[in-house]
Amino acid sequence: MVTSPLPYGRQSIDDDDVAAVVSTLRGEWLTQGPTIARFEEALAERVGSRYCVAVANGTAALHLACLAAGVRPGDWGLTSTITFVASANAIRYAGGRPSLLDVDEETGLVSPDGISSRILELSAAGVRPRVIIPVDLAGAVTDLPAIRTIADRAGAIVIEDAAHSLGASYDAAGVTHRAGCGAHAHAAILSFHPVKHITTGEGGVITTNDESLYRELQDLRSHGITRDPTRMQRSEGPWYYEQRALGYNYRITDIQCALGLSQLAKLERFVERRRALAARYDRALAPLGEQVRPLRIRADCRSSHHLYVIRLQRQSGESVGDVARRRLAVFVHLRERSIGVQVHYIPVHRQPDYVENGLSRDDLASAERYYASCISLPLFPAMTDADVDRVVDALSGAVSGAR
Ligand SMILES: *Cc1c(COP(=O)(O)O)cnc(C)c1O
Repeated sequence: MVTSPLPYGRQSIDDDDVAAVVSTLRGEWLTQGPTIARFEEALAERVGSRYCVAVANGTAALHLACLAAGVRPGDWGLTSTITFVASANAIRYAGGRPSLLDVDEETGLVSPDGISSRILELSAAGVRPRVIIPVDLAGAVTDLPAIRTIADRAGAIVIEDAAHSLGASYDAAGVTHRAGCGAHAHAAILSFHPVKHITTGEGGVITTNDESLYRELQDLRSHGITRDPTRMQRSEGPWYYEQRALGYNYRITDIQCALGLSQLAKLERFVERRRALAARYDRALAPLGEQVRPLRIRADCRSSHHLYVIRLQRQSGESVGDVARRRLAVFVHLRERSIGVQVHYIPVHRQPDYVENGLSRDDLASAERYYASCISLPLFPAMTDADVDRVVDALSGAVSGAR
């Protein structure tokens, strides 16, 4: 039987997105024009932050956020081991050393307690983390208020990796905040890679409420150059600009931002559809609760469901290795049926480059258990209810067959 392959994620591009890009191509500015500022303003308004700086991709956003946060050679930064490698790599780009954190096995998120005890451990060794980068895995916001309190005590900057959580919200002291708003993080980053909530092809932003961080990020995105006379040491004429720090060419283009603006107008609809599909998965998987369970979502958070992650439940007498073998069998079973499952993520501490550079750890047991059991099922706005049912049918077959 031939069924069309179902990817785990996919962008939704309509004619109006195409028209927005084409009209930019026909206009005066391909890059560094007015569309970038319009996109930044619209995005800042959407997440509720004061400032927004758009850059070439989410990884560049993380790199610049680390630099602006003051990460320098030898500094430590904390981040989750269950994330895309970029969250940890960014600390290394700035010359720092990532200290990888364990996660709560049920949510896949770092816990404030885990951060506190790692800070104690580092301080026993005479060091303080410069940054903490919590990751909003799968679209659920981490416990930012608690993390911010800990960071303030430790003198660290919080950079929320909100690559998965555009459109999500969380409650703190009776107030609802949006992911990326900067109420509890000093800065947040988003990515607009095609699998994320909205796309610009490649692209990302840093959001912040801190004006000096904002100015610095603006400079760093374009070689560390400023043209603002009030921030220069001197002026030598109307042509004059100054490089104040070593920056990069991490600019995004007007072409990309035209697509981003057009996509942003649909964010609400995209997130609603993801929530409806996730709710359908939840209902359909409930009877399989002994075998598989979705990632638990923190009670004070409303996920925007970037991913739908399920975890195989450990059966009595099973080791972590047994679960891992069963996960492989289920994964292959689904792939053979053209269902584009994925694993998010291979823990960063398992990557050979981390091991070889002394950045791995052997005390991340919950992350290991999480990794052994997780599978991401397809989830994207254009998926149909029937697609969900097909995935659940195949998964039911797989978990009964792969025991
Ligand atoms: C996608 C992603 C990034 C990096 O974004 P790019 O735009 O691909 O560079 C960073 N962190 C997480 C958690 C991501 O999923």
